[in-house]
Amino acid sequence: MLVSLREILRLAEERQCAVGAFNTTNLECVRAVLDTARRLDLPVILSHAQVRESVAPLEVIGPVMVLSAQRAPVPVCVHLDHCTSLDYMARALKLGFTGVMYDGSLLPYEENVENTRRAVAMARPLGAGVEAELGQLAHGEDGAGNAGGPVYTEPELAVRFVRDTDIDALAPSFGTSHGIYRSKPVLDLERVAVIRRLTGLPLVMHGGSGVSPEDYRTAIKNGVRKINYFSYMSNAGTRAVRALLEREDVTYFHDLALTAQNAMAEDVEKAMRVFYKL
Ligand SMILES: [Zn+2]
Repeated sequence: MLVSLREILRLAEERQCAVGAFNTTNLECVRAVLDTARRLDLPVILSHAQVRESVAPLEVIGPVMVLSAQRAPVPVCVHLDHCTSLDYMARALKLGFTGVMYDGSLLPYEENVENTRRAVAMARPLGAGVEAELGQLAHGEDGAGNAGGPVYTEPELAVRFVRDTDIDALAPSFGTSHGIYRSKPVLDLERVAVIRRLTGLPLVMHGGSGVSPEDYRTAIKNGVRKINYFSYMSNAGTRAVRALLEREDVTYFHDLALTAQNAMAEDVEKAMRVFYKL
Protein backbone atom coordinates (compact mmCIF):
# COMPACT_ATOMS: atom_id res chain seq x y z
CA MET A 1 0.00 0.00 0.00
CA LEU A 2 1.14 3.51 -0.72
CA VAL A 3 1.97 5.42 2.48
CA SER A 4 3.55 8.79 3.27
CA LEU A 5 7.16 9.43 4.21
CA ARG A 6 6.00 10.38 7.69
CA GLU A 7 4.16 7.08 8.12
CA ILE A 8 7.08 4.97 6.92
CA LEU A 9 9.45 6.85 9.23
CA ARG A 10 7.01 6.30 12.08
CA LEU A 11 7.19 2.56 11.38
CA ALA A 12 10.99 2.75 11.43
CA GLU A 13 10.83 4.62 14.74
CA GLU A 14 8.51 1.99 16.17
CA ARG A 15 10.88 -0.82 15.16
CA GLN A 16 13.98 1.22 16.09
CA CYS A 17 15.40 0.41 12.67
CA ALA A 18 16.15 2.24 9.43
CA VAL A 19 13.91 1.81 6.43
CA GLY A 20 15.73 1.17 3.14
CA ALA A 21 15.27 3.73 0.35
CA PHE A 22 16.29 2.19 -2.96
CA ASN A 23 16.62 4.16 -6.16
CA THR A 24 14.68 2.44 -8.90
CA THR A 25 15.97 3.49 -12.30
CA ASN A 26 13.99 0.85 -14.18
CA LEU A 27 11.35 -1.84 -13.82
CA GLU A 28 13.90 -4.47 -12.77
CA CYS A 29 14.90 -2.34 -9.77
CA VAL A 30 11.26 -1.77 -8.79
CA ARG A 31 10.57 -5.50 -8.90
CA ALA A 32 13.81 -6.47 -7.12
CA VAL A 33 13.01 -4.13 -4.23
CA LEU A 34 9.29 -4.82 -3.90
CA ASP A 35 9.59 -8.60 -4.30
CA THR A 36 12.17 -8.62 -1.51
CA ALA A 37 10.14 -6.34 0.77
CA ARG A 38 7.08 -8.52 0.24
CA ARG A 39 9.01 -11.73 0.89
CA LEU A 40 10.48 -10.34 4.13
CA ASP A 41 7.26 -8.47 5.01
CA LEU A 42 8.97 -5.09 5.45
CA PRO A 43 8.04 -1.45 4.77
CA VAL A 44 10.20 0.13 2.09
CA ILE A 45 10.88 3.31 0.11
CA LEU A 46 11.13 3.44 -3.69
CA SER A 47 13.14 6.50 -4.75
CA HIS A 48 13.60 8.36 -7.97
CA ALA A 49 16.50 10.81 -8.18
CA GLN A 50 16.11 13.89 -10.35
CA VAL A 51 19.65 13.36 -11.65
CA ARG A 52 18.52 10.08 -13.28
CA GLU A 53 15.97 11.85 -15.47
CA SER A 54 17.73 10.82 -18.69
CA VAL A 55 17.81 7.15 -17.62
CA ALA A 56 14.32 7.07 -16.13
CA PRO A 57 12.07 10.00 -17.09
CA LEU A 58 9.86 10.99 -14.14
CA GLU A 59 6.60 10.64 -16.08
CA VAL A 60 7.61 7.11 -17.21
CA ILE A 61 9.03 5.56 -14.04
CA GLY A 62 6.88 7.59 -11.58
CA PRO A 63 3.53 5.97 -12.47
CA VAL A 64 5.18 2.52 -12.39
CA MET A 65 6.49 3.22 -8.89
CA VAL A 66 3.19 4.63 -7.59
CA LEU A 67 1.04 1.85 -9.06
CA SER A 68 3.43 -0.85 -7.82
CA ALA A 69 3.36 0.70 -4.35
CA GLN A 70 -0.44 0.86 -4.29
CA ARG A 71 -0.64 -2.83 -5.15
CA ALA A 72 2.06 -3.98 -2.72
CA PRO A 73 0.94 -5.86 0.42
CA VAL A 74 3.54 -3.97 2.50
CA PRO A 75 3.72 -0.22 3.25
CA VAL A 76 5.63 1.59 0.48
CA CYS A 77 6.58 5.26 0.25
CA VAL A 78 7.34 6.64 -3.23
CA HIS A 79 9.98 9.30 -2.78
CA LEU A 80 11.72 11.94 -4.89
CA ASP A 81 15.46 11.96 -4.16
CA HIS A 82 17.79 14.98 -4.40
CA CYS A 83 15.34 17.34 -6.05
CA THR A 84 16.89 20.72 -6.83
CA SER A 85 13.94 22.18 -8.77
CA LEU A 86 10.58 22.97 -7.22
CA ASP A 87 8.92 22.64 -10.65
CA TYR A 88 10.25 19.10 -10.91
CA MET A 89 8.98 18.45 -7.39
CA ALA A 90 5.51 19.66 -8.36
CA ARG A 91 5.46 17.14 -11.20
CA ALA A 92 6.36 14.30 -8.84
CA LEU A 93 3.71 15.34 -6.31
CA LYS A 94 1.15 15.45 -9.10
CA LEU A 95 2.02 11.84 -9.97
CA GLY A 96 1.28 10.81 -6.37
CA PHE A 97 4.75 10.74 -4.77
CA THR A 98 4.35 10.58 -1.00
CA GLY A 99 7.77 11.90 -0.04
CA VAL A 100 10.19 14.43 -1.50
CA MET A 101 13.73 15.45 -0.71
CA TYR A 102 14.56 19.02 -1.49
CA ASP A 103 18.33 19.33 -1.85
CA GLY A 104 19.55 22.87 -1.38
CA SER A 105 22.78 21.74 0.24
CA LEU A 106 24.94 23.58 -2.29
CA LEU A 107 23.05 26.85 -1.78
CA PRO A 108 23.75 29.50 0.85
CA TYR A 109 21.91 28.74 4.12
CA GLU A 110 19.13 31.32 3.72
CA GLU A 111 18.34 30.20 0.19
CA ASN A 112 18.30 26.56 1.24
CA VAL A 113 15.84 27.47 4.01
CA GLU A 114 13.61 29.50 1.72
CA ASN A 115 13.33 26.79 -0.94
CA THR A 116 12.91 24.03 1.62
CA ARG A 117 10.05 25.99 3.21
CA ARG A 118 8.43 26.24 -0.19
CA ALA A 119 8.82 22.49 -0.65
CA VAL A 120 7.07 21.91 2.70
CA ALA A 121 4.25 24.28 1.68
CA MET A 122 3.80 22.34 -1.57
CA ALA A 123 4.04 18.82 -0.18
CA ARG A 124 2.25 18.96 3.14
CA PRO A 125 -1.29 19.79 1.87
CA LEU A 126 -0.97 16.69 -0.34
CA GLY A 127 0.02 14.49 2.58
CA ALA A 128 3.62 14.09 1.38
CA GLY A 129 6.58 14.39 3.74
CA VAL A 130 9.72 16.44 3.15
CA GLU A 131 13.36 15.54 3.69
CA ALA A 132 16.07 18.18 3.32
CA GLU A 133 19.84 18.27 3.43
CA LEU A 134 22.25 20.44 5.37
CA GLY A 135 26.02 20.18 4.93
CA GLN A 136 27.60 18.58 1.88
CA LEU A 137 28.55 15.01 1.02
CA ALA A 138 31.91 14.35 -0.61
CA HIS A 139 30.21 13.51 -3.90
CA GLY A 140 26.86 14.58 -5.31
CA GLU A 141 24.24 12.00 -6.28
CA ASP A 142 25.74 11.78 -9.77
CA GLY A 143 29.11 10.75 -8.31
CA ALA A 144 30.79 14.03 -9.26
CA GLY A 145 30.23 17.19 -7.20
CA ASN A 146 32.10 18.42 -4.19
CA ALA A 147 35.24 16.36 -4.66
CA GLY A 148 36.92 18.71 -2.19
CA GLY A 149 35.62 16.45 0.56
CA PRO A 150 32.59 16.48 2.82
CA VAL A 151 31.31 19.53 4.68
CA TYR A 152 30.09 18.09 7.98
CA THR A 153 26.78 19.34 9.33
CA GLU A 154 27.07 21.58 12.37
CA PRO A 155 24.62 20.37 15.04
CA GLU A 156 23.66 23.90 16.15
CA LEU A 157 22.92 24.93 12.58
CA ALA A 158 20.88 21.75 12.12
CA VAL A 159 18.66 22.79 15.02
CA ARG A 160 18.13 26.20 13.46
CA PHE A 161 17.49 24.65 10.04
CA VAL A 162 14.84 22.27 11.37
CA ARG A 163 13.14 25.10 13.24
CA ASP A 164 13.28 27.39 10.18
CA THR A 165 11.89 24.81 7.74
CA ASP A 166 9.59 22.44 9.70
CA ILE A 167 10.81 19.41 7.70
CA ASP A 168 9.96 15.77 8.48
CA ALA A 169 13.42 14.25 8.08
CA LEU A 170 16.96 15.62 7.95
CA ALA A 171 19.91 14.37 5.88
CA PRO A 172 23.05 15.53 7.68
CA SER A 173 26.55 15.12 6.29
CA PHE A 174 28.75 12.94 8.51
CA GLY A 175 31.29 11.36 6.17
CA THR A 176 29.36 9.12 3.78
CA SER A 177 29.70 9.62 0.04
CA HIS A 178 27.59 8.75 -3.00
CA GLY A 179 28.69 6.07 -5.47
CA ILE A 180 31.22 3.29 -4.98
CA TYR A 181 33.76 3.90 -2.20
CA ARG A 182 37.38 3.88 -3.31
CA SER A 183 38.63 3.76 0.25
CA LYS A 184 36.99 2.86 3.55
CA PRO A 185 34.74 5.75 4.64
CA VAL A 186 35.47 7.40 7.99
CA LEU A 187 32.14 8.28 9.57
CA ASP A 188 31.46 10.72 12.38
CA LEU A 189 28.68 8.73 14.00
CA GLU A 190 28.88 10.68 17.25
CA ARG A 191 27.79 13.72 15.25
CA VAL A 192 24.71 11.75 14.18
CA ALA A 193 23.80 11.09 17.81
CA VAL A 194 24.20 14.76 18.73
CA ILE A 195 22.09 16.01 15.80
CA ARG A 196 19.43 13.45 16.60
CA ARG A 197 19.35 14.45 20.26
CA LEU A 198 19.12 18.16 19.46
CA THR A 199 16.57 17.98 16.62
CA GLY A 200 14.53 14.90 17.59
CA LEU A 201 13.98 14.21 13.88
CA PRO A 202 14.44 10.98 11.95
CA LEU A 203 17.85 11.23 10.22
CA VAL A 204 18.75 10.03 6.75
CA MET A 205 21.98 8.39 5.66
CA HIS A 206 22.89 9.18 2.05
CA GLY A 207 25.60 7.25 0.25
CA GLY A 208 24.50 4.18 2.23
CA SER A 209 26.15 1.71 -0.16
CA GLY A 210 29.45 0.26 1.02
CA VAL A 211 29.20 1.17 4.70
CA SER A 212 30.19 -1.67 7.07
CA PRO A 213 27.41 -3.57 8.90
CA GLU A 214 28.88 -2.37 12.17
CA ASP A 215 28.71 1.28 11.11
CA TYR A 216 25.14 0.80 9.89
CA ARG A 217 24.19 -0.59 13.29
CA THR A 218 25.78 2.29 15.17
CA ALA A 219 24.19 4.84 12.80
CA ILE A 220 20.76 3.31 13.43
CA LYS A 221 21.35 3.25 17.17
CA ASN A 222 22.30 6.94 16.93
CA GLY A 223 19.11 7.99 15.09
CA VAL A 224 19.32 7.13 11.39
CA ARG A 225 15.85 6.01 10.28
CA LYS A 226 16.23 6.00 6.48
CA ILE A 227 19.20 4.66 4.54
CA ASN A 228 19.58 5.49 0.86
CA TYR A 229 21.09 2.53 -0.91
CA PHE A 230 21.62 2.20 -4.64
CA SER A 231 25.12 1.88 -6.13
CA TYR A 232 26.01 -1.55 -4.75
CA MET A 233 22.57 -2.93 -5.62
CA SER A 234 22.86 -1.70 -9.20
CA ASN A 235 26.43 -2.95 -9.44
CA ALA A 236 25.33 -6.42 -8.29
CA GLY A 237 23.06 -6.50 -11.36
CA THR A 238 25.90 -5.45 -13.65
CA ARG A 239 28.26 -8.11 -12.27
CA ALA A 240 25.65 -10.85 -12.69
CA VAL A 241 25.06 -9.88 -16.33
CA ARG A 242 28.79 -9.84 -17.03
CA ALA A 243 29.18 -13.34 -15.51
CA LEU A 244 26.25 -14.64 -17.54
CA LEU A 245 27.67 -13.28 -20.79
CA GLU A 246 31.02 -14.89 -20.05
CA ARG A 247 29.30 -18.26 -19.63
CA GLU A 248 26.84 -18.28 -22.52
CA ASP A 249 25.64 -16.51 -25.61
CA VAL A 250 22.41 -14.73 -24.74
CA THR A 251 19.99 -13.67 -27.46
CA TYR A 252 17.25 -11.87 -25.57
CA PHE A 253 17.73 -8.74 -23.56
CA HIS A 254 14.99 -9.75 -21.11
CA ASP A 255 17.17 -12.69 -20.02
CA LEU A 256 19.91 -10.22 -19.07
CA ALA A 257 17.34 -8.00 -17.35
CA LEU A 258 15.97 -10.89 -15.31
CA THR A 259 19.46 -12.02 -14.30
CA ALA A 260 20.20 -8.48 -13.11
CA GLN A 261 16.89 -8.30 -11.27
CA ASN A 262 17.56 -11.52 -9.34
CA ALA A 263 21.08 -10.42 -8.40
CA MET A 264 19.79 -7.01 -7.26
CA ALA A 265 17.08 -8.69 -5.17
CA GLU A 266 19.76 -10.77 -3.44
CA ASP A 267 21.80 -7.65 -2.68
CA VAL A 268 18.71 -5.77 -1.45
CA GLU A 269 17.91 -8.63 0.92
CA LYS A 270 21.41 -8.50 2.41
CA ALA A 271 21.07 -4.74 2.94
CA MET A 272 17.57 -5.06 4.41
CA ARG A 273 18.70 -7.68 6.92
CA VAL A 274 21.11 -5.10 8.35
CA PHE A 275 18.84 -2.03 8.10
CA TYR A 276 15.86 -3.77 9.74
CA LYS A 277 18.00 -5.74 12.19
CA LEU A 278 16.66 -9.16 11.07
ZN1 LIG B 1 21.85 11.01 -1.69
